[in-house]
Amino acid sequence: MKKNKKQRASGLSRRLHFPEDEKDLVWLSPLLDAYSIADTGVAIAIRDAEKKEKKKLACGKGCGACCVHQKDLPLYPHEIVGIYWYVSEKMTGPLRESLMGRLASRDAASGCPFLIDNSCSIHPVRPVGCRQFNVFTSPCAPGEDPYFTRRDDVLQPIPAYLDRAFAAVIPLYPGVRKEDVPGAIRIIRGQIMNLLSYDWSKLAVLMEQGVPSPCSE
Ligand code: SF4
Ligand code: SF4
Repeated sequence: MKKNKKQRASGLSRRLHFPEDEKDLVWLSPLLDAYSIADTGVAIAIRDAEKKEKKKLACGKGCGACCVHQKDLPLYPHEIVGIYWYVSEKMTGPLRESLMGRLASRDAASGCPFLIDNSCSIHPVRPVGCRQFNVFTSPCAPGEDPYFTRRDDVLQPIPAYLDRAFAAVIPLYPGVRKEDVPGAIRIIRGQIMNLLSYDWSKLAVLMEQGVPSPCSE
């Protein structure tokens, strides 16, 4: 059967699945849904910009200058839960050792603590803000903030997908009125933090002790 536009668009992004964990952790499926929705919105926005404006995406594997010099890295409470889980439960081997070292010797000047060897060590659960930050034409120069140097090359995310991504995690916020979706989204968005200034020291301790994340219980 021929797929309609919406179905084709949704094929631009694939949801990650952790079936065993999703059975045990009630918050995990909504979080993965939210990331999938956000990724789909980003994929559609990129596709449209490439098609209509004849631009080429510059972001690619191993291109991590933005993770070093961007100071504004939005982070929400539900995303922190995902990061704690992923780091403490899923990350193993040398990557885990490297991240432990990076969190322990944390200094703000070195950029995002999760950037290891120019790659995002928490890629499956990286925040929506990171997923949305995409640049066209040419990779960012070291220290360049394309918001200021070439705003037209920065991807404009599609607001409706961002709203839907927030709507998917409403059940994770107790006390938020689920019937009032726009109000609930406003409340969640009001809890914005910055990944760079967030205190990850408890995560470092958890990793050193090798105990599961409190979110995994
Ligand atoms: S935003 Fe800039 S530095 Fe980051 S991946 Fe894209 S081109 Fe590379
Ligand atoms: S979480 Fe990952 S993608 Fe986001 S700034 Fe850090 S290293 Fe980059």
